[in-house]
Amino acid sequence: MNELREATITQLESGATLSIDLAAVVRNWRTLQAVCGDAECGAVVKADAYGLGLEPVVRALSGAGCKTYFVAHVFEGRRLRAVDSTATVYVLNGLVPGTAPAYLDHNLRPVLCSLPEIEEWLQFCALFGRRDVDGGTLPAALQLDTGLNRLGLKPNQIETASELTETLNITLVLSQFIWSGQSNLARCETQVALFDSMRAPWKEVPASIANSAGIFLERTPLYEIVRPGYALYGGNPTPGRPNPMQGVLRLEARILQVNHVEPGETVGYDGRYNAKSPRRLATIGIGYGDGIPRAALGSEVHPGGEVMVKGARCPFAGRVSMDLMVVDITGAPETNRGDYVELIGKAISIDELASRSRTIGYEILTNLGTRFYRRYTTL
Ligand SMILES: *Cc1c(COP(=O)(O)O)cnc(C)c1O
Repeated sequence: MNELREATITQLESGATLSIDLAAVVRNWRTLQAVCGDAECGAVVKADAYGLGLEPVVRALSGAGCKTYFVAHVFEGRRLRAVDSTATVYVLNGLVPGTAPAYLDHNLRPVLCSLPEIEEWLQFCALFGRRDVDGGTLPAALQLDTGLNRLGLKPNQIETASELTETLNITLVLSQFIWSGQSNLARCETQVALFDSMRAPWKEVPASIANSAGIFLERTPLYEIVRPGYALYGGNPTPGRPNPMQGVLRLEARILQVNHVEPGETVGYDGRYNAKSPRRLATIGIGYGDGIPRAALGSEVHPGGEVMVKGARCPFAGRVSMDLMVVDITGAPETNRGDYVELIGKAISIDELASRSRTIGYEILTNLGTRFYRRYTTL
């Protein structure tokens, strides 16, 4: 699919170019694996590998030795299976009614999240002789809810679940942190304690709790396998501290027109930017239809997002519209129609664009649009 996208939208035809450095994703995975010591570093590649492209990311990571993946939906697992025939693939969103056969067909492992899901899986396993492609018992994971209250078995369901799973091949028991920042370390430790008591019936089964930020918590265990997503893609897993990961993206948009405004003129819909002095502005071919948050709007009073123009930081001017937005290039060197400005790159991280847009980098990544000229390259 991404190959298709890359082939069908050329640089000349598009308003913006998204460059993705797969070697940097691999370096991030190796960095995380080094931090984790004996625990295995898996990879979370749901949501099209956070917008970077599931197939290219999996090919790169599998080539580097990654053996375990996590996706949200069955179709994501099916796509993954098409590019890696041997990896272990867990589907986090649980066993949706009627999907059990797909797990067998594509050699995927459901993360069973409730008693009805365990029962449906038991019935399916009974019907199909409990044999996976290698002749073993069909494998599945269990999700335990230690406080997030989204998916997973509750403490009072553990006894029933442990009886029900006696004949099942449970290969992983996992839970997810509510908070992962250092500021809530105590709360994370409470969850770990609850996780340890809840997983007692499956003591011998590999366990997993850490996402990207969880890997960097100092006093919580990593167990047998960790599940980073965001950090692989260059997001900072240690908010408030320097980012130990490498950036993997560059997003550049083309200048379509350069304008001059006089004091008193406004820019963009609703006149949210009011020029206080003569300004030089560049209109660029990217907007909220490409995933640039509308909340990143910049006014003379409240600066929002910024872009890099020939080494100079330049603020957003006015509302981001669907296909266009305006940046104030008064402070930049000579800039012309056709030049590119950088929205994400070495100088401006996804975390920075996110905080200037009052959102999180995860949302920036997973909203990255489909209208870019997309290329896989080294940055
Ligand atoms: C998305 C997800 C992850 C990855 O989280 P990051 O913060 O991106 O590392 C891990 N575990 C579960 C259950 C998830 O849903």
